[in-house]
Amino acid sequence: MINHLASTLGIGDTARHARPFAQIEDGRHYSYADVDGVSARFAAALVALGVEPGDRVAVQVEKSIEALMLYLGCVRAGGVFLPLNTAYTASEVGYFLEDATPRLVVADPGKAETLAPYAEKAGARLETMGVWAGDGADHGSLFAHLPDAAAFEDVARSPDDLAAILYTSGTTGRSKGAMLSHDNLASNALTLKDYWHFTSDDVLIHALPIYHTHGLFVATNTTLVAGSSLIFMAKFDAGKVLDAMPGATALMGVPTFYTRLLADERLNKETAANMRLFVAGSAPLLAETHKQWEARTGHAILERYGMTEASMITSNPYDGQRRAGTVGHPLPGVALKVTDPDTGTALAQGEIGVIQAKGPNIFKGYWGMPEKTREELSEDGWFLTGDLGMIDDEGYVVIVGRGKDLIISGGFNVYPKEVEGEIDRLPGVVESAVIGVPHPDFGEGVVAVVVAEEGAEREAEAVMAPLKERVAKFKQPKRIVFVDALPRNAMGKVQKKDLREAYADMFQTAS
Ligand code: AMP
Repeated sequence: MINHLASTLGIGDTARHARPFAQIEDGRHYSYADVDGVSARFAAALVALGVEPGDRVAVQVEKSIEALMLYLGCVRAGGVFLPLNTAYTASEVGYFLEDATPRLVVADPGKAETLAPYAEKAGARLETMGVWAGDGADHGSLFAHLPDAAAFEDVARSPDDLAAILYTSGTTGRSKGAMLSHDNLASNALTLKDYWHFTSDDVLIHALPIYHTHGLFVATNTTLVAGSSLIFMAKFDAGKVLDAMPGATALMGVPTFYTRLLADERLNKETAANMRLFVAGSAPLLAETHKQWEARTGHAILERYGMTEASMITSNPYDGQRRAGTVGHPLPGVALKVTDPDTGTALAQGEIGVIQAKGPNIFKGYWGMPEKTREELSEDGWFLTGDLGMIDDEGYVVIVGRGKDLIISGGFNVYPKEVEGEIDRLPGVVESAVIGVPHPDFGEGVVAVVVAEEGAEREAEAVMAPLKERVAKFKQPKRIVFVDALPRNAMGKVQKKDLREAYADMFQTAS
């Protein structure tokens, strides 16, 4: 038996060894021979440190090409890679360690001391790994375990064996560990390579974090199966991305990347002349951003939709029309339906309901939470995404928001995205977030949190008045709050939970 994911990603394919894999900011270059060699050394180190097939390897380190090789090494050694957001505090990491009981924890050298008691409590060995700073520098303890020789025979793993556990961001309740199999990841990588036409000629700008499905799997695995190469950046910096663009062919980003790039006057048709593909996802891309991008660069951003538990589910077409405000069609091999939240039956085109998806991309369940798994993953393989959406008149999927962001005011459903769309169209408005907070009469009261353009008046009535003509009374915000910026996480998702907390007492105190 082979190692399903490693072999799908082309690990060990000597025919491509001479090809470039990554240009790194510090001036180093990785070839495909380096990918095979360095990941083999990490795999051997993990085995030497006691990692057995199926063991979890929890990793909270800064982004680096070596951290990516650690991921591949873990897959090759038959381990289950468990990346953690670098923003998590030691006690938050403590929760994940206790939950996932990894064999090994790899931490940033600067965090080792505070993490040590948590690793010990979870019975895990702790090693450290910093960003490579040249030979002779102290990069942490893990590097010392790498053997010089680069030979490693990949541990056999079947398509159903686990390759990774990614914890969901956990906006409600406890964070859950999504178990992803070798074939979940392998099948999605192959599908995306074909759907987005990736070849060995592509050079992808990689500026996403690698603790999340977007940067770790969508960007990296697609590159590996296609034999493409990366311009590998430690983090997103609009100026650096623009510097790199003439030498690249593709960019994958969250919507914030695109708004920040648009704010730089160097973005134009010439800078983007060599590019063939701009992909956006992980959060909704404003139709306005899509429009501005096309006007400035001549390229229509390709928006796609996915999530930790399912990798990529839908995508706008490569060749056909890329419709702003939609996430396109289900990917080949993936089935999607919009269902009634109460009965689970499929709804007609144009009706809003809960999105369910099925396919080889759908995860195996939540680690250690069989009940949660049963609630969200049916026996016949349909996964309740928790997103609300509909299929529009041309068959494109439109996401209207997370189910838990739905507002029920006076017994009526208010879909925040609809109201946000109307507010965002108003002159002087940059963007908005519509939330529901406790209200003594209505259960929830609609509140619009609005970011106004610089210099624009911050007058609630200027937002309220036009809405009265455009949306039903129960959807109209009862209060408008102006802020300088909306709270976002590293993936660019607006943190509505934070807003709901901040304004929780708004109607309570008023009454
Ligand atoms: P995560 O598991 O962190 O990748 O978050 C997944 C969630 O992000 C999905 O369930 C959606 O709510 C949201 N999401 C991802 N892509 C899009 C998109 N293109 N448009 C709107 N929401 C999106």
